[in-house]
Amino acid sequence: MYNPVSLSEKVESIVTSGNLRKYYRFRATRFYGGIATADTVGCNLRCKFCWSGNSVWNAKNTGDFYTPEQVAETLKRIAEEKGYNQVRVSGGEPTIGRKHLIELLGHIDKKFLFILETNGILLGLDKTYVKELSRFRNLHVRVCLKGCTPEEFSWLTGAEKNGFEYQLKALEYLRDENLSFNIALVSTKKDKQNLFNKLIEMGLGKIFIEIEEIKLYPAVKKRLKREEMLKYFQG
Ligand code: SF4
Repeated sequence: MYNPVSLSEKVESIVTSGNLRKYYRFRATRFYGGIATADTVGCNLRCKFCWSGNSVWNAKNTGDFYTPEQVAETLKRIAEEKGYNQVRVSGGEPTIGRKHLIELLGHIDKKFLFILETNGILLGLDKTYVKELSRFRNLHVRVCLKGCTPEEFSWLTGAEKNGFEYQLKALEYLRDENLSFNIALVSTKKDKQNLFNKLIEMGLGKIFIEIEEIKLYPAVKKRLKREEMLKYFQG
């Protein structure tokens, strides 16, 4: 069992240096109908179903450091070549390295919608981070909830249960700052009503929820099997 906030600090010391941040890949993808994507290195969770491989599990030996300008220029070039109007940061956890992310957003051409894919832990930890993000009106945040309850969060990620509270706090802060956001949900529970009730209580009953499909790549399958969790992901 680990504490995701302590892990964030540890990972940050590996994947950032000043305003530089590690990335391992830049690509055009078909998600969201076509989007230029920068994949970061390093995460503050260790989800049992994670497909990211070395970028999460071996951050030290993966990727290279880039400035915010370099990342913004590369995303712009890919988007323009492909005729996309959206860019995103994906891969590991992009909110690790606040200085880099805020500067990166400042360099993104306003004609692009920037989609921030996050587990929300660091946003729920510090409201001022969300406030800072709210300056960027071409931003959409996609918060991926790991489970419907603190217990399921812990089971799926191996992290302490309090991480789930930070995820929910992130939603609250995003709502308060009037940011555009939605939820992606990973859960093996058939009955998700607990979570839906909680969201209604929080005034988020109308928020768009995507159910995230877990791809059983060989490495993911192997890990889930080792953890005796595979059967829960096989439908
Ligand atoms: S939050 Fe995402 S990148 Fe991080 S371990 Fe979980 S699935 Fe992987």
